[in-house]
Amino acid sequence: MCSPKACRESYGKEFRTEPVSAESYNEAACPFKAAVEKLQQLRAQGEDILPLKVPPHYQRLIEDEVNELGDFGGPLYNVAYPKPERWTTFVPNEVKNFVADNEHMPAGLEDVIIHRYTGKILYLTTSTCLGHCQYCFRPDIAGAANQDEGAGDNLSPHILDRICAYLEEHPRIREVILSGGDPLTCEISRLEYAVQRLTAVPSVKSCRLHTRAPAYAPQGLTDRFIRLLEHCNIHLVIHAVHPYELDAEAATPLLAMRRRGIMMYNQFPLIRGINDHPGVIMELGYRCTELGVHMLSMFIADPIKFCAAYRVRLQRVFDIADEIFFHGEAWLSNMRVCQDTPIGKVKREHILPYAAGPDQHIFRRQGRSVTYQDIPRELDNPTPLSRLLYAGTAYADLSLWPERYYGHERSA
Ligand code: SF4
Repeated sequence: MCSPKACRESYGKEFRTEPVSAESYNEAACPFKAAVEKLQQLRAQGEDILPLKVPPHYQRLIEDEVNELGDFGGPLYNVAYPKPERWTTFVPNEVKNFVADNEHMPAGLEDVIIHRYTGKILYLTTSTCLGHCQYCFRPDIAGAANQDEGAGDNLSPHILDRICAYLEEHPRIREVILSGGDPLTCEISRLEYAVQRLTAVPSVKSCRLHTRAPAYAPQGLTDRFIRLLEHCNIHLVIHAVHPYELDAEAATPLLAMRRRGIMMYNQFPLIRGINDHPGVIMELGYRCTELGVHMLSMFIADPIKFCAAYRVRLQRVFDIADEIFFHGEAWLSNMRVCQDTPIGKVKREHILPYAAGPDQHIFRRQGRSVTYQDIPRELDNPTPLSRLLYAGTAYADLSLWPERYYGHERSA
């Protein structure tokens, strides 16, 4: 393995949007170097894989992590750079887009809105993200060339005319979810214009905005942006996967929003090698609560190609949730644990008592069912807590779990 210092210098601090060059590594045998090169190769072969994109703020967090751990492959590193096993771990029935978003895009608004549920739409404001997450379940949408006439987003007056007309034709839509990509990559004046247009539609009662800015680019949470949320009563949903992402820089704007009464929530996936332990989620929950962010949803990863190395076996997801609900405060028990599927969001109670096949589960909801391909037990090696929370905790009591639980005991 290459030395952390050498690789750290190679990665550098500049804003990277393309893979690191092979020459920038000092030792040819480094598996992490090979994993980055493999990403580049697979993209060149046309695979749906996002290029590396590590914002400078996040790169600094990773450098601190590498210093602390003494090697690569810690939780924040795994968010931004590929694990070597990402390219060698596959399970049957992996697909390109499990939730079939494309089937719910109305004619004339393809790649702009997703209308899956009667009362709400997802508005893809842009396909550009602040940074690229290795576990991304929507690589076909994030980074896709679906933006409006050169502006780099879907916020033009022309597109908003069409969205507002659609909302007026569908008055049962009460909520608009501004997502992407990441809306925080858009110009603030264009975002303001979009919000003003959407909130002027009488049937629209609420808007929320999803972003990973607290983790990737907290400097983007400017006072002007906060004013927009405050004045238009927009709820903010951050996608923090690990407590160490919410550092002091992220805390400043979040606390400012808390003081100004903005409703904030956290929604995140449970990812192997990043947060697959109840202690991590509890620490994340306590940190979020301190910053005024409610823990809303913990998602089960989609069965997407090249994501198997990040998935957690279903039974272990539920075991982790049970630990949190048993040991955590009551407000942590309100967090829902769910899976996005072609039939909508499903939870543990929607699993039928019989299986469709080996490592397969059937979820049934409102008369519709979907088969979910789990990962085999032998692939789901839990990550030791000492790696996931290498810098310790400020809030969570880790003595609740004996060392044997951390990574050497498997769920059924
Ligand atoms: S921010 Fe979301 S959409 Fe963008 S790469 Fe990460 S997971 Fe994918």
